[in-house]
Amino acid sequence: MSSIRMENNQYYDRSVFLPPIDITPPVSSTESQIKFKLPILMYHYVEAYGDPKDVVRRGLTVNPETFEQELKRLVEGGYTMYFAKDMNDMLSGETQPIAKGMVLTFDDGYEDFYTVVFPLLKKYHVKATVYVIYNYIDRKGFLTEREIQELINSGLVEIGCHTFDHAYLKNMQYEAARHQIIESKAKFEERFGIVVETFAYPFGAYDNNAVQLAKEAGYKLAVSVVPGAIHGADSRFYLTRIRPGIFNPADMIQVLEKYNK
Ligand SMILES: [Zn+2]
Repeated sequence: MSSIRMENNQYYDRSVFLPPIDITPPVSSTESQIKFKLPILMYHYVEAYGDPKDVVRRGLTVNPETFEQELKRLVEGGYTMYFAKDMNDMLSGETQPIAKGMVLTFDDGYEDFYTVVFPLLKKYHVKATVYVIYNYIDRKGFLTEREIQELINSGLVEIGCHTFDHAYLKNMQYEAARHQIIESKAKFEERFGIVVETFAYPFGAYDNNAVQLAKEAGYKLAVSVVPGAIHGADSRFYLTRIRPGIFNPADMIQVLEKYNK
């Protein structure tokens, strides 16, 4: 199954059209008391999109001015942005998340993360996590190796893994899934001299094998595309996220504050 399709020379991700995935928890946890709210926002493109008829891409796109407005409101509203990996200690109960904590995530590693998002992260002193597809590094429209290195050096960006090829992991043959989840992590670490602690399932598609492999790989946690903002140790490998594209930037804080699932 092709993951990112190219149409009119534009790439897009079809994750929003996936039916709800099976989130039967494959893990039982003794840390089940831990529950806290921390919105993990999920962005894809942050760009001025050209074709209003491309509804798929439009659904995954936030334009740069809107994004800056959102960021500004959040910062002025007292929100603090964590890296996704910072949630590890919260999920194990070692640290308490602050009340106005949040994680900004960007899937796929599009070049606009460097050209549009990164300057704004610096302007507002905000951290973010970007989920990079290893084999898309240096491809047209995606982050280059040099840009990724600069993001890492800034201290404002966590690089997370999004497989080698944007693989659809649900029902994937075991060895192939192993390659996509485990070997990709090692490649990132070797190439960039970092430890990759978090993983995002492409399309939000996963099954028990994928979850087990993510654990085996040594990721501390993994994010899905299922909507939600309440997290616990038992959902460490399928943390829910919120798509900011679904609400008006003016209502953003209000919507996030009311979010209770
Ligand atoms: Zn993706």
